Amino acid sequence: MKTDFDAIVIGAGFAGMYMLHRLRQAGFATRVIEAGKGVGGTWYWNRYPGARCDVESVQYSYQFSPELEQEWEWTERYATQPEILRYANHVADRFELRRDIRFETRVTRATFDERENLWIVETDRGDRLVSRFVITAMGCLSSPNTPKIAGLADFAGAVYHTGNWPHEGVDFTGRTVGVIGTGSSAIQSIPIIARQVRRLTVFQRTANYTIPAHNAPLDPDYVQRAKATYRDMRARARTKPAGIAFDINPVPAVETPEAERNRIYETRWTYGGLGFIASFSDLLLNDDSNKTAADFVRAKIREIVRDPATAEILSPRNIIGCKRLCVDTGYWETFNRPNVTLVDIGDEPIECITSTGVRAKGKSYDFDCLVLATGFDAMTGALLRVDFRGRGGATLRDAWREGPKTYLGLTVVGFPNLFTITGPGSPSVLTNMLPSIEQHVEWIADCLEAMRANGRTVIEATEPAQEAWVGEVGKSASITLRSTCSSWYVGANIPGKPRVFMPYIGGLPAYIQACEAVVAEDYRGFALS
Ligand code: FAD
Ligand code: NAP
Repeated sequence: MKTDFDAIVIGAGFAGMYMLHRLRQAGFATRVIEAGKGVGGTWYWNRYPGARCDVESVQYSYQFSPELEQEWEWTERYATQPEILRYANHVADRFELRRDIRFETRVTRATFDERENLWIVETDRGDRLVSRFVITAMGCLSSPNTPKIAGLADFAGAVYHTGNWPHEGVDFTGRTVGVIGTGSSAIQSIPIIARQVRRLTVFQRTANYTIPAHNAPLDPDYVQRAKATYRDMRARARTKPAGIAFDINPVPAVETPEAERNRIYETRWTYGGLGFIASFSDLLLNDDSNKTAADFVRAKIREIVRDPATAEILSPRNIIGCKRLCVDTGYWETFNRPNVTLVDIGDEPIECITSTGVRAKGKSYDFDCLVLATGFDAMTGALLRVDFRGRGGATLRDAWREGPKTYLGLTVVGFPNLFTITGPGSPSVLTNMLPSIEQHVEWIADCLEAMRANGRTVIEATEPAQEAWVGEVGKSASITLRSTCSSWYVGANIPGKPRVFMPYIGGLPAYIQACEAVVAEDYRGFALS
């Protein structure tokens, strides 16, 4: 069989773009296939009002090119979606990526041919492409979850999903709007939608924790200093579990006197952002410690939200940081607005959607437009939408029936020459995704180069190595509080999805070390031929 490419990369977000660049540099014939009309992935699709990063812009950016770092100017502490999308497009232009990307094309099936050790990749445009390697760069949060609520199709007004927002934008001025969900996407968009609409109704199933962003334009002096010290900052970030260069207070919360503890929380709250969860060393390990942080945030909610009953509904009861912590601009304050109503559906699911709105708890709520801020089939959703067939025609869906199993989050037994960037079993969504993506891309490219240098054409994880890694992922999950609640990390948001803590929670430094050790020992745990 004639090969069309050395490697086919699926997806042209930050992962697919850098993978293409790196493989091209190494001289591999590479084709990227992307469902969207443009690059940027997450930042191409999630155009809802208020969408922005919650890892600071100077950190949420590529580090592989010092020239790129120097020429790009971030303008806000947390860049908006349009700015991040401009950045992605700038990268595509600068490295001339588009000529090897096929846009508006979705991969539907990929089959491993065991006689020739080649992948046959099929698309919704009828392509049938043959490649030695397939690399998925399909995103951990790219398969929007539209809940199966009875009557959704009957709604007469417009329905928008935050994860697939119209490119031309939506003008809500003077409209009545319902939002389902109170995760990060909702928390970012609700304050802005509330300012536009006549009436906003928010349906909350689980109250969520959010920390103020204190977003602001970046001072040009700060930007210059950041540019001058990029190398140090990136190196420091690599030593942190989340790959973010913020300080983790090494002191346990339970061992800190209350007044001092609250002073530390106040300082972190005033600074803003995800670093709040690093106020103490044990917040995600010890229930009692966690409760001190949760109590602090609950007190803030009571302070900000004027109506005590609304404040009570908004106050989360679960572990802070168990579901992904959110970062906001004016979220709690929004519920003081006279045009905003909060509906608690925590104890009773939405009954149905009617032609005019939502029926919940025996009451009808009518509006012109409905926003589904209902998240994603995370980590495995995009992968399992493709019909991957490995050795003996076995499907990935079957291999992962009880939850995803990988070696290092990068490879799967029975699927030779298939690599999964930020796959389940890697730190991915628990980290600043950019450094995690770059680490995976470089590991994969180095692996392909080493194989070529040694005349090898097939690589496959072995069963014992995969089993040991799956065990390691499970063990590390069991010692943190993060695996204890109904989050998308465990697939709880998707009915019927197996409950498994999917990302590796041992931290980025330990993970990088594990990946490097495997290479140092001549790709320990892999069969190469
Ligand atoms: P994506 O950006 O998701 O790109 C995957 C691409 O693959 C998509 O373009 C998709 O169309 C394409 N694709 C999927 N399946 C197929 C197929 N079968 N055929 C063809 N193409 C396909 N992370 C952070 O670290 N910090 C943040 O502040 C942050 N903010 C976020 C905000 C939002 C709203 C969301 C949803 C996520 C956020 N994330 C954040 C996570 C974010 O997804 C990653 O940071 C990063 O952008 C992922 O890049 P990626 O290339 O791996 O995947
Ligand atoms: P999400 O965190 O999964 O939130 C989805 C929300 O919808 C939850 O409140 C959920 O309630 C609710 N929901 C889902 N199905 C429902 C149903 N049938 N009925 C009622 N409510 C329902 O999704 P997201 O907000 O899109 O965020 C996903 C992830 O993307 C984030 O965790 C983060 O990693 C990333 N993100 C980051 C940013 C950022 O600030 N940079 C912004 C957006 C997204 P339950 O909690 O009860 O399930």
